[in-house]
Amino acid sequence: MGIKKVGVVGCGTMGSGIAQLCAQSGYEVVASEINSELLNKGLALIDTFLTKGIERGKVTHEEKKAILARIKGTTNLQDFSGCDLVIEAAIENMDVKKKIFTELDKVCPRETILATNTSSLSIIDIANITTRPEKVLGLHFFNPPQLMKLLEIVKSIAISEETIETGKSFGESLGKTVIVAPDIAGFIVNRLQLPFRLDTIRMLEAGIATKEDIDTATTLGLGHPMGQLALQDLVGLDITCTAASAVYEETKDPKYLPPTLMKKMVAAGWLGRKTGKGFYEYK
Ligand code: NAD
Repeated sequence: MGIKKVGVVGCGTMGSGIAQLCAQSGYEVVASEINSELLNKGLALIDTFLTKGIERGKVTHEEKKAILARIKGTTNLQDFSGCDLVIEAAIENMDVKKKIFTELDKVCPRETILATNTSSLSIIDIANITTRPEKVLGLHFFNPPQLMKLLEIVKSIAISEETIETGKSFGESLGKTVIVAPDIAGFIVNRLQLPFRLDTIRMLEAGIATKEDIDTATTLGLGHPMGQLALQDLVGLDITCTAASAVYEETKDPKYLPPTLMKKMVAAGWLGRKTGKGFYEYK
């Protein structure tokens, strides 16, 4: 099916980036939040990202204007009724996601494909709450979605071939390289990277190295574009902690068990950039 209009539920770290990416790829976009304050905050993230793009010579003023004009903000899920594809990027909580999918299933036409950007939750559990499980898939973007080249398509056992193919073409239309992952906690990328990610926290917790030295080791020694602890501040510690717990629950493999330091930081609200404090502090 042809996709022209895309809905994005949640305009936080990922939702704002996905909405921007879709708009700059030529799609009409509807982006929702739970209230106007959070919606304005999310839309401001897009504005700031594009302004920085102008400063770096990547985007023109006219392009910024055109991209923003293609994004309509809303606090009402009814506004998704004209969307061909809706991508849910709300918080990583199964009850919240099930509630959103139940509503989307009522509001959206039968042909609309419903996607979740979950990092770790079961796609079939989300799909089965709807009357169209064959049209539900995982579209797992990476942070920041505007820049990261990979898109994981996650297929549940109930998905149709047509939905997978539409997901692939949609991902490619956004300039992404697409891989198809099974519906297992953590999919492909997080299964691979979580043990390393958690090990950097364990190393800090054990006093083996400072956060600065761990980050220098990961950039200059391992060739990562960002220090691993700085990256976790960007991603959000709550997101990684929930994803690691979900993979641990499914595998019982201790390498996925979140370290105590991480759990304490989440409890303290030190989630990284979005709360102004994580492993580092942010203004
Ligand atoms: P976030 O906390 O930055 O943003 C989530 C937003 O969803 C919040 O602004 C919240 O107000 C909003 N929201 C909650 N319920 C809503 C509802 N009913 N309707 C509309 N909006 C609602 O979280 P995030 O980091 O953007 O993560 C979003 C999803 O993307 C999660 O499922 C997460 O696992 C996944 N994900 C995150 C990353 C990452 O690096 N942060 C990477 C890949 C996938």
